Amino acid sequence: MTFQDLNLNTPLLNAINDLGFTKPTPIQEQAFNVVSSGRDVVGIAQTGTGKTFAYMLPILKHLKFSKQENPRVLILVPTRELVVQVVEEIEKLSKYINTRVLGVYGGTNINTQKQAVAEGLDILVATPGRLYDLALSRVLQLKSIQKLVIDEVDVMLDLGFRHQLINIFDLLPERRQNIMFSATMTHDVDLLINDFFRNPIRISVAVSGTPLDNISQNRYNVPNFNTKVNLLVHLLSNTETFNKVLIFVAYKRMADRLFENLDTVLRDEVCVIHSNKTQNYRLRSIEAFSEGEHRILIATDVMARGLDINNVSHVINFDTPEYPENYMHRIGRTGRAERKGASLVFSTEKEQKAIEAIERLMDMKIPLLEFPEVVEISNELIEEEQQQIKEHYNPLKRGQDEDTPGPAFHEKKEKNKKVNQGGSYRREIAKKYKKPKTRGDKNAKRRKKRK
Ligand code: AMP
Repeated sequence: MTFQDLNLNTPLLNAINDLGFTKPTPIQEQAFNVVSSGRDVVGIAQTGTGKTFAYMLPILKHLKFSKQENPRVLILVPTRELVVQVVEEIEKLSKYINTRVLGVYGGTNINTQKQAVAEGLDILVATPGRLYDLALSRVLQLKSIQKLVIDEVDVMLDLGFRHQLINIFDLLPERRQNIMFSATMTHDVDLLINDFFRNPIRISVAVSGTPLDNISQNRYNVPNFNTKVNLLVHLLSNTETFNKVLIFVAYKRMADRLFENLDTVLRDEVCVIHSNKTQNYRLRSIEAFSEGEHRILIATDVMARGLDINNVSHVINFDTPEYPENYMHRIGRTGRAERKGASLVFSTEKEQKAIEAIERLMDMKIPLLEFPEVVEISNELIEEEQQQIKEHYNPLKRGQDEDTPGPAFHEKKEKNKKVNQGGSYRREIAKKYKKPKTRGDKNAKRRKKRK
């Protein structure tokens, strides 16, 4: 496919020519018609796949020239660096079109940004916090937004921006197109899609550049967390083979728990990154791992992406990713730059379904290795594993259960909940004076007097 096949207009084609791009990337090919259709879209693609242009090309193609001041396209991204980057990309693409683009983010003077907003714009790129502040100040009107793009939504949710996103949704017109891009699928991303998207079309480019045949994949069946730790310690004792190991876990608490377990056995060899650690701590950990100071890095899916660490000898999936795309992203961290890589995945009985989904996506089986006899099988379950055997329905416990969703954010505000009974003024007055006292009553009295 070429860019001509996308029926782009000449100014866009010229801009692409200037950039020296010869053909659309796979995600650009997949996204074009879907985004053009106006339907809600969920795209799974990592940075580096050309995903920014994947949503910007169709948006710019269909954005008509307008002099109106309020923005029509809103792009939310998690960090200020990304605001700058996305604005730059849009500017390159709209070189020959009259499109007004503005980037806003926190930590800088809001008044300068207010002035810029007041000058009028078509496309606004923003971090959620600053966007909300600007919208509350009323300088920024969001009522004309036709398209909302949320980029890197997995990072955004992992950084705790869910509430801010929902507050922003409340300010947007209901009739709009939602477009979301995420590198990984997480439970939180899934929830957001289910709550706010209308029958989205899903597109995905699962593997990012790493040819699968560069990676030898194997798997173990392991009954529980503690046994997984035992197996891991056993494998890692072979320091020659397992010389640079990236271990993946699904969520922060699990990352910390595993770190504590490994740190006692493999002192000074392990570091950990997830979004509750400070930026400095994360950078230090990544550097220590990159440079070989630490042999082992534990990471959550969201935090590990974008990591360009060379020569990872093994990727170990300590848990089996529920979303098969995540598995592809994880193993793509090894076997880079034509080097051979190796990956292992540990699965409990509960995780067998996920293994099947991964094998379906890759259209190949992952060989099962025999559980080493020397490794001790533990029967001791951790808290999360014990919780799984819980009562399905116990009215006394309702509301305390972590899994029970709280009240929806979209519940009506108190004043909107009232049922309109008509004649509210009369009722209020009647309540206060215990008898009707309205103009109508006064007239009635007057009429009585006259009689
Ligand atoms: P992104 O995934 O949006 O961060 O893009 C990664 C890089 O690929 C950016 O520097 C883009 O300028 C570049 N890029 C985007 N589309 C193409 C394309 N069709 N051909 C070559 N490079 C591209």
